[in-house]
Amino acid sequence: MYSTMQDVQLTISRILEHGRRVHGASTVTTWTGEPEPQRRTFAEIGDRAARLAHALAEDLGVRQGEPVATLMWNNAEHVEAYFALPSMGAVLHTLNLRLPPEQLAWIVGHAADRVVLVNGSLLPLLAPLLPHLPTVEHVVVSGPGDRSVLDGAAPRVHDYEELIAGRPTAYAWPELDERTAAAMCYTSGTTGDPKGVVYSHRSIYLHSMQVNMAESMGLTDQDTTLVVVPQFHVNAWGLPHATFMTGINMLMPDRFLQPAPLAEMIEREKPTHAAAVPTIWQGLLAEVTAHPRDLSSMKNVTIGGAACPPSLMAAYDRLGVRLVHAWGMTETSPLGTMAHPPAGLSAEEEWPYRVTQGRFPAGVEGRLVGPGGEHLPWDGESAGELEVRGTWIAGAYFGGTGGDPIRPEDKFSEDGWLKTGDVGVISPDGYLTLTDRAKDVIKSGGEWISSVELENALMAHPAVAEAAVVAVPDEKWGERPLATVVLKEGAEADYATLREFLATEGGIAKWQLPERWAIVSAVPKTSVGKFDKKVIRKQYAEGGLDVTRL
Ligand code: ADP
Repeated sequence: MYSTMQDVQLTISRILEHGRRVHGASTVTTWTGEPEPQRRTFAEIGDRAARLAHALAEDLGVRQGEPVATLMWNNAEHVEAYFALPSMGAVLHTLNLRLPPEQLAWIVGHAADRVVLVNGSLLPLLAPLLPHLPTVEHVVVSGPGDRSVLDGAAPRVHDYEELIAGRPTAYAWPELDERTAAAMCYTSGTTGDPKGVVYSHRSIYLHSMQVNMAESMGLTDQDTTLVVVPQFHVNAWGLPHATFMTGINMLMPDRFLQPAPLAEMIEREKPTHAAAVPTIWQGLLAEVTAHPRDLSSMKNVTIGGAACPPSLMAAYDRLGVRLVHAWGMTETSPLGTMAHPPAGLSAEEEWPYRVTQGRFPAGVEGRLVGPGGEHLPWDGESAGELEVRGTWIAGAYFGGTGGDPIRPEDKFSEDGWLKTGDVGVISPDGYLTLTDRAKDVIKSGGEWISSVELENALMAHPAVAEAAVVAVPDEKWGERPLATVVLKEGAEADYATLREFLATEGGIAKWQLPERWAIVSAVPKTSVGKFDKKVIRKQYAEGGLDVTRL
């Protein structure tokens, strides 16, 4: 028997039209570095998205199914592109502006982007790249920045405001199949070459609903979210789409991502929520410790992209800001798990749940697979690789324009689940705890040492600002941990003390304690602000670190 229900396609244009009409007064506030930020309502964003779509279709010939690149910070114009492109049937292709230029050029060529929307402040990055982007025919520039660096460039250059001026504020959005492409994002390549993930209208629609559920971020039009996570990093974790569903106000930092302006933004604009990777929260903590600011508006914060050190969570608890831990990937849209504790627990009882990666929502299934391919029980002890499946989980990678999707064996199981490359355990009540990425785990004499556990324990020491632990080759054990430590300003600690701290306070078993140590001025970071362990391993191999052996 078939159902008797309507079959309305789950498309981005429906989210846009709902947001601009029902939540027309909600706002996108973009930091400008000027005394006043730029403020735009959802109604205005909707009008401007329609005008942008007209301009792109009528003047630049953008067609359905065509990827259009954005090289932009988090700001109102980027939100306009987020809605205009998929709604008109094109594909939003966000470019990670922190990638090395040769990787960016490779990605633009792989997607065969013909049009690039760019912020004026990023022209110094784009201009020297253009000779290496043969597919690009049009560049559309928005916001402040010296346009003259594009003089003599091969593609045609347009000013965003001039291009959209005077166009109709309504667009007859095509009725698209919800399974067609809406957006694409390449992985940041922390552990390998970038791979393209192509999201559908349906996957984004369903993911946005999940973001808005109370068991996930659970925000409403009473809230303002500070979107620090870049719009090029897995669609800013789904926030721009989710906000238009429920009218959540957005506070966009544009290029002002340093701790001091972020602290000022929070104090002045009073967001109730924010989302960013741990290194951002580490930086902000150091800033407000040195120069106290009022962060009390921020009731909760979504933190993920890398393991959140429990000491960081505790430090923000003391500031009255609750960090909520989440796990996800480019391939998972990214919402995979979120760590809200079960009901009815005291603060003390909640703690062990809060520091896990959290529970799967109903739309995501997870399983653990052992080294022999066997499925492991959810007993809180059996460690294996996490595999997931669901309606907003990738089932393949983009194979290039005209190419077939790619399903590498090391990324997808035979029955179609995504192999995450993350290793961990799941408790009987469904809480996932990741111990490491498979590629970062330290294999010492046949036993595994979790680099994340050592890092978390080290970062709990009062003198330690950041710590990254990597596997290095060892004659006797195969691999051993190398601990690289950044000390807080003015703080001192010797290696023996830190090692002792790991054993006593950190509860680390003796055989897991690192014997190789290095104090460094900063931990190298990836393009999305995660510890870059590839770089640390390389520095060690090339003798670039001042290592002490205990
Ligand atoms: P990249 O793989 O290039 O870093 P992604 O942003 O897609 O790009 O990274 C996804 C990976 O980030 C996950 O597979 C996992 O290793 C890590 N990760 C994300 N969130 C967490 C978290 N809360 N705890 C530990 N690791 C995390």
